[in-house]
Amino acid sequence: MNRFDLDGIGMTSRRTRDRLIERLMDQGISNFHVINAIRETPRHIFVDEALAHRAYEDDALPIGFNQTLSQPYTVARMSELLLSRGPRTRVLEIGTGSGYQTAILAQLASKVYSIERIEPLLDKARQRMRLLGHDNVFLRHADGAIGWEEAGPFDAILSAAAPVQIPPRLLEQLAPGGVLVSPVGGDEQHLVMVYRDPETGDYEQQDIEPARFVPFVRGVMR
Ligand code: SAH
Repeated sequence: MNRFDLDGIGMTSRRTRDRLIERLMDQGISNFHVINAIRETPRHIFVDEALAHRAYEDDALPIGFNQTLSQPYTVARMSELLLSRGPRTRVLEIGTGSGYQTAILAQLASKVYSIERIEPLLDKARQRMRLLGHDNVFLRHADGAIGWEEAGPFDAILSAAAPVQIPPRLLEQLAPGGVLVSPVGGDEQHLVMVYRDPETGDYEQQDIEPARFVPFVRGVMR
């Protein structure tokens, strides 16, 4: 992978990427920082070469191990929700996967801590972070349900996998004034946003929209 690959050609060119941006804006994505981060991030390096020509369609794409790289709309929407209470400094992400959402977050916050339970996916994501020069990203192979206590509390937490219930350790590691965005549920899922009141420390949960994410699975895989 070199500079030429990052720029892309044909179906991965800047023109193709700009069309994706237009489509996201048509769907109501309006945060300038989010739009810019998506515009600047070469999504085609987060999938196998054979799928690169589909990287700027608004679809989820397979990344192996039965997992998927989230749809650009979903990544944009979750990022926007995370920023809805103002700029964020420390973000915890559960489910690094390909690292695409991680790369977007790296451009929106000062520090990003991301946990993935499938080691081979994490190894590839780590190479991509290095290639893109995101040195504010810290990756860990672990079960995200336990969070990352030493690095917390976090003023933003994002999960890319759907737990049946939000793990209590994640709520504990959410700073007062912090925002957590996660899909929740089993066969039927909803994207929810939790805001932690800065004065009382209480949690306010808001239902955003129906969602379809891969399940949140306990334990790790090597
Ligand atoms: N944002 C990622 C989406 C990957 S899919 C991307 O853009 O590529 C969700 C990821 O969550 C999968 O890689 C899956 O392995 C991971 N995951 C599921 N349960 C987890 C858990 N308990 N801890 C850490 N990662 C988990």
